[in-house]
Amino acid sequence: MARTPCYFHPEQLAFKPLYEWAFGEKIDHPETTARAESILRALRGHGQAFEVIEPRQQPLAAIRDAHSNNLLTLYHTASRMPPGETLYPSVFPREFIRRGDPTNLRHAGCFCFDSGTPLNAMTMEAAAWSAACAHEGARRLKRGSDRLVYALSRPPGHHATREFFGGYSYFNNTVIAARYLRRHGRVAVLDIDFHHGNGTQTSFWRDDRVLTLSLHGDPKEYFPFYVGFPHETGQGRGEGYNLNFCFPGGTDFDAWMAVLLEEALPAVERFGPDWLVVAAGFDTYHLDPIGAFTFRTGDYAVLGERIGRLGLPTLVVQEGGYHSADLGANAVSLLSGMREHLGP
Ligand SMILES: [Zn+2]
Repeated sequence: MARTPCYFHPEQLAFKPLYEWAFGEKIDHPETTARAESILRALRGHGQAFEVIEPRQQPLAAIRDAHSNNLLTLYHTASRMPPGETLYPSVFPREFIRRGDPTNLRHAGCFCFDSGTPLNAMTMEAAAWSAACAHEGARRLKRGSDRLVYALSRPPGHHATREFFGGYSYFNNTVIAARYLRRHGRVAVLDIDFHHGNGTQTSFWRDDRVLTLSLHGDPKEYFPFYVGFPHETGQGRGEGYNLNFCFPGGTDFDAWMAVLLEEALPAVERFGPDWLVVAAGFDTYHLDPIGAFTFRTGDYAVLGERIGRLGLPTLVVQEGGYHSADLGANAVSLLSGMREHLGP
């Protein structure tokens, strides 16, 4: 059986956020390089099934297509920060006129929606390579010789919108991949991270060629708090092409899976996409320090098998998951389940 291509670039490890301001408290930053290292170890430990490949170039045109000039200018400004220095946005305009200057890092809050997503000299580099994994993964899938491709994107991306970063997300890797694939057909994006994929929802809000589905912790209680509710279904041509499924804290795999099988996957089948992009977070894991579901490692194989049974060419883009010790095992579990149906 041929190996599943898995994209990762070593420069993604150059960005090391150290701490986060969470509700005024200074905590160790959960989005560490250990996350990607755990997944890499697990992939290489199953080298008969997975092949780790470096993306060749940063997809700057695709990034510019998905994000505003201001956001890119801000990251370029941050890339000139002295090594070791970190900036946490802390002033967020609301009713004031939004006229932030992205060449002034003190204005970073104008392009950001939370205080947990820092900038430093390596943010741009790591985020651009993270996007490269998803973009090159999408191109690989499009070529048609593989039915399953994995992008080890880190930092994650599904919270980033065209104009704003936040939620540990700088470029929306899932959106960049889906925008590439939608030029060649219809795309379903299935977000299985613990958190609502607000950036992805926003990007395809008025789009009927991309069906977005997200299963997540109820935003009344969990990040991103103000968005991700079931009544948000899209607008204009996109009306009906955005589906949100919310779950209370403590939800177990069986209860979550019942909604996936009875509502989400049938909606994907009705839509009839040419491609499936899975925004794969593992913060649904029972030991995750941020998420509040109770999934086990073996559950992800069952989940992967059921998604794989759709028989769609599938790109899996890594999103969250913060229990680094088991993150690799969880990712390999999901991908192994998918390989049962999407192997060559
Ligand atoms: Zn998450």
